Amino acid sequence: MFNKILIANRGDVALRVLRACKEMGIPNVIVHSTADADSMPVRLADESVCIGPPASAGSYLNIPSILAAAGITGADAVHPGVGFLSENADFAEIVKAHGLTFIGPETRHIRSMGDKVEAKIAAANAGLPLVPGSPGAVHTIEDAEELGKTIGYPLLVKAASGGGGRGMKVAKTAADLAEAFSSARSEANAAFGDDTVYLERYLSQPRHIEVQVIADQHGNVVHLGERECSVQRRHQKLFEEAPSPALSATQRAKIGRIAAEAIHKMGYLGVGTIEFLYEDGEFFFIEMNTRLQVEHPITEAITGIDLVREQIRIAAGEVMSFSQEDVNFNGHAIECRINAEHPETFVPTPGKVTAFHAAGGPGIRVESCLYSGYSVPPYYDSLIAKLVVHGDDRAHCLARLKRALEEFIVEPIPTTLALHARLVEADAIIEGSYNIRWLEEKFLARD
Ligand code: ADP
Repeated sequence: MFNKILIANRGDVALRVLRACKEMGIPNVIVHSTADADSMPVRLADESVCIGPPASAGSYLNIPSILAAAGITGADAVHPGVGFLSENADFAEIVKAHGLTFIGPETRHIRSMGDKVEAKIAAANAGLPLVPGSPGAVHTIEDAEELGKTIGYPLLVKAASGGGGRGMKVAKTAADLAEAFSSARSEANAAFGDDTVYLERYLSQPRHIEVQVIADQHGNVVHLGERECSVQRRHQKLFEEAPSPALSATQRAKIGRIAAEAIHKMGYLGVGTIEFLYEDGEFFFIEMNTRLQVEHPITEAITGIDLVREQIRIAAGEVMSFSQEDVNFNGHAIECRINAEHPETFVPTPGKVTAFHAAGGPGIRVESCLYSGYSVPPYYDSLIAKLVVHGDDRAHCLARLKRALEEFIVEPIPTTLALHARLVEADAIIEGSYNIRWLEEKFLARD
């Protein structure tokens, strides 16, 4: 096992990793920006090193400073958390070149999954079903028009380096293609410095269903079921549940098996998530995330498995502590992302929290760095708490969630707590009948 883990992240993600380190008895060090000097993970970690100013470019993305902190404190492994450098293949490579262990997959997998064109080719080779589309990158409008005839309309022009829904444009008909093609390319170039795009059939009412996979260095591969993440705004997930209300046990076992076989073929290591769109009973691969996901606690709730602990054990070369046969899915879990955002306009609302009270009682888990008197800094992601609720079945889980939301207090800054309180009353949520368009096109459009 490692002598000391350096946590290269902040907020509730850093706290999550810190908690695993502490429970495993692993000494730990956290790096932080000047804006986070008073944060909960900094207070609780064994050691902390300030690595730069509030802006992430100078701190949480500052590779030389992070490595210097590892050198000074004698850390022998780095946990990148979620976001920031967690899917940066160069960072993983540099960490390894310095003789440290990167707690994550191999660099080649981070790199190939980071390029969506390459990822689709790798996914197809591993036996995953793809959204029908161009076989690779499309460089000219003439090629796009030719391909459009076979793919059909509406179609989506997507950036190879895309993320966060940027560089993605819909062409409803062939007449819109030239405009969609050039605007996707210029948006991709501005956002990612890469104007490579590809084409995909645009699915009209899909659900976003992702499968959690995990593999060790000894050839063991397991899937931990799926998460339903269709409640999205601007391609950002707000509310996730496991299992998906759309799948039967047979469909679950089938897609889980396909996902596990795919990562076995790829020779993948550690935790990962394979994201699919699901429409009319069919799954279509969209991307793979080569890291822990924000919504991992709902999988932990229904499987009883500590994913971060397992991720650390696997990185240290240990054998996975369970096999596929050991995995049982118990009950139902829902995660609400509580953001420091106005619940109607979604404008960020950083500022001082004078009153914080987390919900409690049976089946409730809260992942948060908040405390009364804490000031939510304006420099980072607006996620301030994750409310994770586990129940015997979906109806029980929803009832528990409703009462947990009534208990939860964050004042005076507006948060998405108010949105979640309305969501749990919505018919489409109660019935589990929503898809990726529902929140924006139905629920929010009604206001
Ligand atoms: P990003 O990495 O930018 O988040 P993804 O490929 O993961 O891009 O897609 C993000 C979201 O965009 C999906 O969850 C879905 O809502 C929508 N989307 C992506 N591909 C398609 C498609 N072919 N048809 C319809 N919607 C899509």
